[in-house]
Amino acid sequence: MLTWEPKATCGAARRGVLKTDHGSVETPIFMPVGTCGSVKGLTAAQLHDTGSRMILANTYHMLLRPGPEIVRELGGLHSMMAWDGPILTDSGGYQVFSLAHMRKIAGDSVTFRSHIDGRRVELTPENVVDTQHQLGPDVMMQLDICAAADATREQFADAMETSVRWAIQSRDAWDQRGRKSVQGHSQALFAIQQGGIHQDLRRESAERLVELDLPGYAVGGLAIGEGHEVMCHVLDEVDELLPQHKPRYLMGVGEPRDILAAIARGIDMFDCVMPTRNARNTQAFTWNGRVKMKNAKHARAAEPIDPTCTCYACRNYSRGTIRHLFAANEMLAPTLMTIHNLHFFAEFLAAIRESISAGTYAEDSARWLAQMYPGV
Ligand SMILES: [Zn+2]
Repeated sequence: MLTWEPKATCGAARRGVLKTDHGSVETPIFMPVGTCGSVKGLTAAQLHDTGSRMILANTYHMLLRPGPEIVRELGGLHSMMAWDGPILTDSGGYQVFSLAHMRKIAGDSVTFRSHIDGRRVELTPENVVDTQHQLGPDVMMQLDICAAADATREQFADAMETSVRWAIQSRDAWDQRGRKSVQGHSQALFAIQQGGIHQDLRRESAERLVELDLPGYAVGGLAIGEGHEVMCHVLDEVDELLPQHKPRYLMGVGEPRDILAAIARGIDMFDCVMPTRNARNTQAFTWNGRVKMKNAKHARAAEPIDPTCTCYACRNYSRGTIRHLFAANEMLAPTLMTIHNLHFFAEFLAAIRESISAGTYAEDSARWLAQMYPGV
């Protein structure tokens, strides 16, 4: 069974160890996203070499293609991704609301048309648990409703109410499957707090979900356009509302400034497509801010992306070479950039964990912010 044990705290920031059937990982942790069962452009060995230790795959994409039955026949996600560390899958709810067209919520189901072939697909709290039961991740997420950033209070209240009801139905479906995957490994179910930017709705959501005594809790529906200050305000109460001895996951957050602020407020887990997507768009993350490799000034640059970085790309390739590979449309360019960005995120989170243990998180955070966001 999944557990989380604290190792050190600094204010509300926590360092701990998350234990799963596929090994233990240290938190706070950043999970790279393998949307369709692959972290784009990287083998599992390259992914592991970046320092990444837990990854995410999207239920929505795996449900539509190749489908849970085929994933199951191929041995589950761990086997398909050649990854023996922990995997988390989301519920697909977020993609349905952001990608699918012609979606319709009726009672306890969401119906939509696949963006691939237009076929009609129905999601329910039960069938989403069943899909994840077949995919075989260590952590599965409940189906929830994420209202848009500009939703009315009433819409946020409705989304929260439905999400709480679906958490209960998800728990029952998870119990019925013995809290295990078809591959026979323990699976933890995380519930998702909703409520938008309204503190009273967030509080009610958390209180009702905590009563279900699930292995972990996520904060959903944040970083969708409400802005950094509002996000921080919503997270201010997380430490008080969610159990101290269970992992807390802020979904879809990857901006370094947001990660630092969320950890200061007691969050342990993150995921985002930002480091991998931006890598493919020629943007590198460094301790001194972002570097756009497409920039003409790098054409003759013999130095690596970041001279202080120890990743494979920085040990072996110059900025000039990477810029050329992008210009020539070589597959190696996004691969090298993805290696660098995921290595940066792994090192960033490792430095944060050390800082929490050292009891210097507030000072270190302020220094990193000044370095990464000069002039902000
Ligand atoms: Zn590097």
